[in-house]
Amino acid sequence: MNPILNLARPDILSLQPYQHAAWEPTLERMHANEMPWRADGDASHAGLNRYPEPQPDVLIEHLAKLYGTSPKNVIAGRGSDEGIDLLVRAFCRAGEDSVLICPPTFGMYKVSARIQGAGVIEVPLIKERGFELDVQVVLAAWRENVKIVFVCTPNNPTGNLLDRASIEVLCAQLSNKSLVVVDEAYIEFANAPSMVQDLERFPNLVILRTLSKAYALAGARCGALIAHEDIISLLARVITPYALPTHTIDSVLHLTDDQHVAESKKRIEMILAERARVSEALASLPLIREVWPSHSNFILVDCVDADAVLRAALSAGLIIRDPRSQLGLGSSLRISIGTPDQNDRLIRGVTQASGVPV
Ligand code: PMP
Repeated sequence: MNPILNLARPDILSLQPYQHAAWEPTLERMHANEMPWRADGDASHAGLNRYPEPQPDVLIEHLAKLYGTSPKNVIAGRGSDEGIDLLVRAFCRAGEDSVLICPPTFGMYKVSARIQGAGVIEVPLIKERGFELDVQVVLAAWRENVKIVFVCTPNNPTGNLLDRASIEVLCAQLSNKSLVVVDEAYIEFANAPSMVQDLERFPNLVILRTLSKAYALAGARCGALIAHEDIISLLARVITPYALPTHTIDSVLHLTDDQHVAESKKRIEMILAERARVSEALASLPLIREVWPSHSNFILVDCVDADAVLRAALSAGLIIRDPRSQLGLGSSLRISIGTPDQNDRLIRGVTQASGVPV
């Protein structure tokens, strides 16, 4: 057994998991209290009167291939949001345990911890070093009750890649002490390899991947949590019995086949080209102090007057993200790269608001 399981909640380790109905595709189903007829004759609704297969082999094998790992190391859920929630619920005892996060970062780590009643230790990224991880400060802040350290690379909302060697130091120093969760939601937009290949080296490493960003499937709600097989088996006891809806399973299999993956690469290239264009255009405007370098499909923009930039976007019919309540983001806004037309409208709006003739 992976010794990291000693960190899991003891009551979850001894939990008798819910026995969902057996999956026997060769037999006719009279064991799951489903309706034997369909709600609608339309072929697109076929199978919806039946519960979906939990963690379907075909989907798990497909995701494992997509991410370059083995099926035993994968569990699929409703986006990586569900992966975060599962980890916190399985490893953190309410009122006792904590997670460690490095703000400014993705908000769900903290929200999931709070919902579970777990503590949150915050070790800020170093703004002066382009929002880099301060691994020594993380290790100094670590306490016995920290069950999970979350890092996000490329990080949301700052867009930078974290130093890989620092993450490796974290994994090594915290082996048997904490899970190190590396959220790679935006890795396809970065010119950097995933840490999936490091699973063998670090039994406490957990990687989050999602189909919501690079694969244009945010509405399907599907993400993969990749980790040592003992962690996967533990989380399989905690996840809801039928986490993945039938339509999600079908669309993911179809929309991440070889042809769609090739198309998604072209879309990523377009986003990268637009990211460079929008960054350069905004950086030249008086209302913008700095555009942080991005390895993601969004940019973080430090503004001279963030309210004026927000208003300019709104007048152009666009909504951009205001993360200013987060530590260290006093005057910054986060902008998702859109279509060329949307990007043009944003640039034009901020140009006008800057008092520069368009
Ligand atoms: N991680 C990061 C860093 C994110 O930015 C997001 C979504 N904004 C998620 C995870 C969650 O993505 P999803 O649940 O759609 O997979």
